[in-house]
Amino acid sequence: MPEQREAVDWDAVPGPPGWYEPEHVGRGLRVLSGATNLVRAAEAGSLLGCGGIVHDHSGSVFPAAAIAAPLLLDVARRGHPAARDTALVLLDEALSFQPHPGYARVAEPDGTEVPLCCALAHHLRAHADFLTGLSGAGRSLLAEAAAHWRFEIRECVATGDDTAAFGSLTGRFPDGVHAARMHLGGTVTPLNGLTLEHPPEGDSPEAFLRLLAHPPAALPPGALLLPAECGYRAR
Ligand SMILES: [Zn+2]
Repeated sequence: MPEQREAVDWDAVPGPPGWYEPEHVGRGLRVLSGATNLVRAAEAGSLLGCGGIVHDHSGSVFPAAAIAAPLLLDVARRGHPAARDTALVLLDEALSFQPHPGYARVAEPDGTEVPLCCALAHHLRAHADFLTGLSGAGRSLLAEAAAHWRFEIRECVATGDDTAAFGSLTGRFPDGVHAARMHLGGTVTPLNGLTLEHPPEGDSPEAFLRLLAHPPAALPPGALLLPAECGYRAR
């Protein structure tokens, strides 16, 4: 996927001044995709891991990580085993590190601004078949990504004082009652009292959530629900 890598203007991607080094990203990805030994893969890992997409000494992650994620996954699929291992380590760091204040969100293709961690998790789940096949590192990445669940609302109906919301769920909605943030048309609304009524079955993401003590109008079709705790743990 070299065309896509070259098309990104890393200088235009926001990042915390003094931390984010845009020139490290393009160079790091170039070196990584062409790496055929441990030395070159480690060189790429240093560029990307020290101001490129993360800063590993301080445990911080930058918005460039979400844009680089599909490219890293492509390297992991097609690259040399040393490059694959480096890409997986970087993805793992990106998902577990914390963003800087003001740099905790990224825009999805439809313009919705979502927490950086949830955008990363979404990219990882798009490659679930590949990551599952890797066992060890691949499966643990998917397990971490599962905590960043997302629910897209398709339809709601009242059930007593509550609302049942039908839609698609990816990731794992935890047991119990949880808070979420609802993203719709550029606004973010906190919601409390969500619980999973019917989980997805088989390969279908269809599920329904129950929102306690709220009318259906609280959950408009087309809205996206993400975990409340995501994107608010900035350094
Ligand atoms: Zn998240």
